[in-house]
Amino acid sequence: MYESEEAWREVDAYFVDTLVPEDKALVNARESGRRTTMPQAEVAPNQGKLLAMLCQMTGATRVLEFGTLAGYSTVWLARAVGDKGRVTSLELEEQNAEVARANLEDAGVADRVDVLVGPAGDSARRLVKDGAEPYDFVFIDADKPSNPEYLRASLALTRPGSVIVIDNVVRNGAVTDPDSDDARVQGVRTVLADIAADPRLDATALQTVGSKGWDGFTVVRRTG
Ligand code: SAM
Repeated sequence: MYESEEAWREVDAYFVDTLVPEDKALVNARESGRRTTMPQAEVAPNQGKLLAMLCQMTGATRVLEFGTLAGYSTVWLARAVGDKGRVTSLELEEQNAEVARANLEDAGVADRVDVLVGPAGDSARRLVKDGAEPYDFVFIDADKPSNPEYLRASLALTRPGSVIVIDNVVRNGAVTDPDSDDARVQGVRTVLADIAADPRLDATALQTVGSKGWDGFTVVRRTG
């Protein structure tokens, strides 16, 4: 019992019930993931709240997100930056962006969020070209093989002091396999190596168990 996935889910449910109240807009955003191209790929509620708290603890008012899906994490981030803040969220699929925009409207934060549709690498390059103000906080949660590209883009769009969180870095433990033929695993391994090799970056990674199974995330602080 204590080591089973059922127990992980029960503990997550207990933590969420106790500490992470979701209003109707958040519940709807989470459940509307069913109408996207990747059902149930949103962060867990306790992770959504952690992202929001990291923004609040670092005073972030400008947030960049790679991977919007139904906008569940986006709602957490947009609420965290407050009504003077701004969130730019990059999403490949128009279908998902439409669902997200409705959820952001419903959550009362649509006016502080831009959902840019298209390959995130292209959208990020456009932001650089247009001279976007540096972002304080970046959440990378799109296609995992592109993680190294998204880190490079994030470095062009942040400043010393900015924080970058990269989701799903465990891949059910496969992340330790240097010979994996899974491009998502290699995307994670390469981005972690790139972070480690960059003197401007300081980072840690945590593995988690819970309602999303065995997973984990990396937190990066830009020091220079
Ligand atoms: N951050 C969301 C949340 O927690 O609510 C979940 C994002 S989901 C894990 C990944 C999203 O990235 C999907 O919506 C998918 O369509 C999007 N995506 C995949 N490839 C992409 C690309 N090349 N550019 C932009 N978005 C992409």
